[in-house]
Amino acid sequence: MDEFALIRRYFADLTPPQESVVLGIGDDCALLAPPPGELLAISTDTLIAGRHFPQRTAAADVAYKSLAVNLSDLAAMGAKPYAFTLALSLPQADDAWLSGFAEGLGQLARASGIALVGGDTTNGALSITITVLGSVPPNQALRRDGARPGDLVCVTGTLGDAALGLQQQQIGESGDPADVRFLRARLDRPTPRCAAGMALRGLAHAAIDISDGLLGDLQHVLDASAAGAEIEAATLPMSQAFARCADPAQRLRLQNSGDDYELCLCLPPAALDSARWACGELPLTVVGRITAERGLLLKDESGAPIVAAPGSYRHF
Ligand code: ADP
Ligand code: MG
Repeated sequence: MDEFALIRRYFADLTPPQESVVLGIGDDCALLAPPPGELLAISTDTLIAGRHFPQRTAAADVAYKSLAVNLSDLAAMGAKPYAFTLALSLPQADDAWLSGFAEGLGQLARASGIALVGGDTTNGALSITITVLGSVPPNQALRRDGARPGDLVCVTGTLGDAALGLQQQQIGESGDPADVRFLRARLDRPTPRCAAGMALRGLAHAAIDISDGLLGDLQHVLDASAAGAEIEAATLPMSQAFARCADPAQRLRLQNSGDDYELCLCLPPAALDSARWACGELPLTVVGRITAERGLLLKDESGAPIVAAPGSYRHF
């Protein structure tokens, strides 16, 4: 199967036609008609086998996660998903692998209303680069530089599930099979919080998605906003599966390990009720507050600082 047959078979018809896509896969460029008057939000993320996912991860999960982590960036900006491109480097054109990959990718793309409009296919070590395009009305994007002293620091969903899922995969699973499955799904198929991100436009002062770990990701918001924060470790939200399966001595480290793709938001206290309503079924938990003094302080239940704060994931 040559490159063009591969593109036709797996990718050309992956997502249904959309009005805003004037010309999709098959020409030198895609032609798009973005919503008039809105800003285009663009983000790229690469996933490399052995680095971002274990080599033996199922192809459908690799695809799902590759798109999910990109959608998560749109969510963190309050942008509406619109179109994406896929640059795929493959060691071989394996039919079973490509079928699984296309299935996982198509599933999340269709559910998110985002169209695959182009890409590139090359032969090499397995890596997946996705670029997502979204749209957001001017002045409504959830930027990193808007946090203000007194804002509540909130997180969506629960933290630590993906890290515990990975640990279970690496050193053996223990616990109820339903818990193991739940944690594994949180690792392999994170849910991008796009609906919450869009609903929080105009409510949150600042937002970031939690990919590398809460403290490290929040620090980016603090740097951009020239502010500090106090986080109460005991308030970090955990799932029931996490509470049952995680070693209490490891909890804080796992909850700060990232890969959950929840949103971290800074919002004025008066907006908390509206923000919770905007998030619907998705829990929104207050974990701390923004301070005028710079620095990020992690506190235990007695209010004492936790000195050996766990670090976030860094590539270099
Ligand atoms: P060019 O040589 O002009 O860059 P290509 O031969 O790389 O074009 O690709 C042909 C068409 O197929 C283009 O429209 C491109 O966007 C699309 N395409 C290539 N690879 C992928 C892929 N993995 N997923 C989606 N579309 C792809
Ligand atoms: Mg090309």
